[in-house]
Amino acid sequence: MSLEQTLMQRGDSACELCGESSNLDVYKVPPTPDDSAEQAVLVCDTCLSQIEAPETMDANHWRCLNDAMWKPVDVIQVMSWRLLSRLSTQGESWATDLVEMMYLEDDSLEWAKSTESDGEAVTSDHKDSNGTTLLDGDSVTLIKDLEVKGANFTAKRGTMVKNISLTDNPEQIEGRVNGTRIVLLTKFLKKSN
Ligand SMILES: [Zn+2]
Repeated sequence: MSLEQTLMQRGDSACELCGESSNLDVYKVPPTPDDSAEQAVLVCDTCLSQIEAPETMDANHWRCLNDAMWKPVDVIQVMSWRLLSRLSTQGESWATDLVEMMYLEDDSLEWAKSTESDGEAVTSDHKDSNGTTLLDGDSVTLIKDLEVKGANFTAKRGTMVKNISLTDNPEQIEGRVNGTRIVLLTKFLKKSN
C-alpha cells in the first residue's frame, strides 16, 4: 500500500486537520520526514498552502484544530501543536489556550518544537566536549594544546577555529588552523558563540 493510500485509510479520505474531502495531498512533516505514515499527514490544499506560507494563515480556518488536536495520532498532534503555536504568536488567544491544554509525549513535544520555520534539521551527531551540537559553519575553541601531526606545529589551547566542516565521523571535524586545514577531535573542542 502506498503512503497516500495508508493515509487515506487512516484519515478516512479526508483532510486530517480540517476534514475537507477534496484536493487532498500528502504533507511530510519536517524537519526529517522519512516516507512513513508516522511522519506524514493527509491535508487539503487550503491547509497545505497555509502551512507552507505562515503569513497567509486564516485564523478562522484553523478552528478545526480544536478537533484535530485530540486525534490519537502523534503526527497529527505535532502538526496541531505547531499550527496552534504559530497562531498563538500571531495573537490568537484561543490558540494559546488550546496549546496549553494539549498534552504531548516528550518525544512528540521535542519533535513539534524542532524547527518548523525552515524545515531543515538542526541537529547532528557531532558534539563538543560539553555535549553541545556542532554544525557546519560553527566556530570552536581548542580546550587543550594539540600537536598537529605532519604539519609540525602545535595548535594552542584557546585557538579559535572558524567555519568548521563536519566529517562522516561524529568524533571529528575539519577546520583551518595556522592556514592549514586539519582534522580535529570534537572532544578537544568547545563551541564558541
Ligand atoms: Zn484541511
